[in-house]
Amino acid sequence: MDNGWFADEVPVSEASGLRPRAWICVGSGFSREDIKSVFLGAGRGFTAEAVTSLPDLAIRLTGLAADRVLTGSARQEVLRMLLANRRVASRFEELKRLRRQVSFFRRLDLAIQAGRMSFAHASEEEVYLERLHERVGPEAIRPVQREIRMLADAYEAWVRGSGLWDPPLLIREASELLDRGWPEAISRPEAIHVFSAQTEESLEKAFWEALSRHVPVIRHSPDATRGGVPDGAKLTIERWHTLDDAAERFCDELQKASPESWKHHAVLIPDYPGVRRSLTQALMRRGLPLAEPRDPGRLRWDEAIKSAVIPLSVVGRDFERREVLKWLASRGSPERTVWIPEINARAIRQGLKAYVGGGLAPLHVELSALQTRFSGRKTLAELSRLHLEHLNEAGSPSSVTSFFESFWNEFCSDLELLGMAERRAPLLYWLERLKARLAESTPPVERSKPEHGVRIFRLQQAPLEARATGPLRLWILGLPPDWLGGDSTGDFWWSARERELLASEFSVRSSVQSVSDRTGTLKAWFTVASEVTILDGEFEFDGRERESLVALLRVLGVQEPPVLTMGCHARRLSSYGATRPVPPQEIRLAPLQPKTGDARVELTATTLDRFSRCAFQGLALQRWRLWDVDDPDVELWPNVRGNILHHAVKLLLRSRDEEGRFGLLPGEALDRAWREKSPKGLFRGRRVENYVKVQLREVLEKFCAKESEFFERARTRTLSLEDLKVRLDCEGPVPFSIIGEPDRIEEHRDGLLISDYKTSSAVPNGTEMLDLGYRLQLPFYALAVKRTLKKPVIGIQFIELNRKAGRNNGIFFSRFNGKEAGKISTLRSNSKSLFTAEPDEVWSRLEEEITKQALRYLEGRFEVRPKKREKECRACPVADLCGAKRLVQQNDGEPEGA
Ligand code: SF4
Repeated sequence: MDNGWFADEVPVSEASGLRPRAWICVGSGFSREDIKSVFLGAGRGFTAEAVTSLPDLAIRLTGLAADRVLTGSARQEVLRMLLANRRVASRFEELKRLRRQVSFFRRLDLAIQAGRMSFAHASEEEVYLERLHERVGPEAIRPVQREIRMLADAYEAWVRGSGLWDPPLLIREASELLDRGWPEAISRPEAIHVFSAQTEESLEKAFWEALSRHVPVIRHSPDATRGGVPDGAKLTIERWHTLDDAAERFCDELQKASPESWKHHAVLIPDYPGVRRSLTQALMRRGLPLAEPRDPGRLRWDEAIKSAVIPLSVVGRDFERREVLKWLASRGSPERTVWIPEINARAIRQGLKAYVGGGLAPLHVELSALQTRFSGRKTLAELSRLHLEHLNEAGSPSSVTSFFESFWNEFCSDLELLGMAERRAPLLYWLERLKARLAESTPPVERSKPEHGVRIFRLQQAPLEARATGPLRLWILGLPPDWLGGDSTGDFWWSARERELLASEFSVRSSVQSVSDRTGTLKAWFTVASEVTILDGEFEFDGRERESLVALLRVLGVQEPPVLTMGCHARRLSSYGATRPVPPQEIRLAPLQPKTGDARVELTATTLDRFSRCAFQGLALQRWRLWDVDDPDVELWPNVRGNILHHAVKLLLRSRDEEGRFGLLPGEALDRAWREKSPKGLFRGRRVENYVKVQLREVLEKFCAKESEFFERARTRTLSLEDLKVRLDCEGPVPFSIIGEPDRIEEHRDGLLISDYKTSSAVPNGTEMLDLGYRLQLPFYALAVKRTLKKPVIGIQFIELNRKAGRNNGIFFSRFNGKEAGKISTLRSNSKSLFTAEPDEVWSRLEEEITKQALRYLEGRFEVRPKKREKECRACPVADLCGAKRLVQQNDGEPEGA
């Protein structure tokens, strides 16, 4: 390595042309594409055999067919198949326990592959085990190790018996062949150059030794004992608040530079999806393209790929509500605003039948079409054809369709190799496999590459440059503090400790080799850089504090590097402030006008009530008609609970005789109300229903007790139970009417008492209504009923339908208050709902307030100004929209910036 770049070591002239004199074998830490670009950069052509990999080289030497070599996914299918056999599985108790782990088959496959690469032949493994026995004692072989070896034997026997191969078998075969001599049919190169940043293990070493007896093998790899930051090069550590901030800093620098100069920058990142995500998001925000746009994590975030699988999940998971909602969202169906609330109201869990009829009838038709297409036991080939047909009909992007074409082809070929092509299975079976394979698949190739782009490299990647580009500014983002020793080399086959014990004598990879390989690679990067900036963070993505990198850098030979504490990036500073930006707190809309043909604008009592709580609530909930889409639950939604209780109370009062005795028991009234007002949004089930009904019955029993007491004392007669529609006509710039329907009107010898049922306990007292103009629905009923029935109103009250069963809030008058017979309330003299003034005086003050607020609503003047912040904002459904949730409370309870 002359100037540090491995490109200088690529034997371009020997390996190019139709008859290459040298072959290049690309191993870990180097990429074939990068090596090829060295040739292209030098303007030289090359053949496929000139640039190869270890498995491909073994295939060429042995003359085996490449399609008989199992891929990682196919190997996992073999292991699955073996463990699915009950007789086999019964012998693997430890593996049965481990099978619950995420990515179990992937880890199992990796362990079996890595384990078999650690010894060149069975007798060598015997020696390893003996040595472990000597050092560790009789417990040297753990039960899981014993099972893994048994399974590996069964796996290897099956693979050999089927005429198939995997990398360790292939390398062993090639080594044995080379021991017998150079294969006649293959022309011998003058040298083989191996580019790898990883120390080889016993099996690979044996292969290279066998090969080197016929051809010189020249190894090119980073050297941990050489290299480092050159004299005069500047190295800085910038410690930012988080890695997101650090990524922003890097992108700032690139944004300042011209695209032509991006080739003088390179950023190294670890294989952690979080770091790559932070970096790519920061780049995207600035419109900075990547030199290599293929993102290894793309299959995990690409919505188009995920959406393509959702129809299969919908059918495979028996139309689970969650899957159907995802499907609707992925299609962007406009009808979903109607369908989703109904799906939730029906509390659908799963099953196609649950979507029959009502507003969901069109959805049911579409789901049935999916069912017809994908349900039933199918072979993988049938399923893949149907899925591709579906993608074409749904107009999926061609990149997605072609990705799935090759994905299904590979999957089907693997099953063919395994002799499982004719296997029929339900969709869920295939779906699980599909998802597991997708998680490990290579993302689709990006069709276009930018002329200039930001170059991202992995930390394990060695520096290989097509052509030296002048001084390199090296950035290292998110270097893990435990990078040189953190990743365990242990697996199901050899534990990390066992590898360490064996590594001192044998060619077994342990953390010592891992540290040495990584050190060598990092030092190689330092060697080619003229300036190194390590971008670190104080905190991890999950909030944990990150350890210092100083110790790691000392291992790399960097002494006392300056650490600059940078804090947080300017882009995010404002989000750490005490106050956040709040949305507009005052909104003006066009005044409301009467509908065509109407002389007056109509306003409901509910709208007036919302507006009188907070003008913004009135705007969002009544004028804009926004509402929350609630998920089904095992508790009743508050509005549904209110409807059922209202209805049960009405049934109870209607059943009352002249002596005030109820003709229905609370439970009977509840059962009828339950039938007549469906419990929307409640997951069905006997236990859930019983649990909810016990709570409601308790409320109704309390109501009946209070009602009997009231009847005995006040001796009123029920005049209306939601059967009287009332209106209040008002004049203004535009004439308007407020309309509504009081829950209940009682007739007393001195006048009328109007009641409103509330299921929450946050009801206002009379002083709040009168002084603040707060909660004006009930006062409006007082005025409207007074005018409609032409009788005096002697009180308004809230009847709480909850365990408290309170009735002391409203507007009551001293004249009609007391414990004696004929009095409508029993309030204490200091109650805020008790007034000594005459009723007409109170009602006329309230009429003024009602008219004033109704006019403000009609004029389109809305302010974020709740009348009673502590009562309203806590449970307000639009607290996010108005910004209340983002305000910081001051000591007096009033938010800053309000
Ligand atoms: S959260 Fe408070 S301020 Fe905001 S709309 Fe609701 S009641 Fe009004």
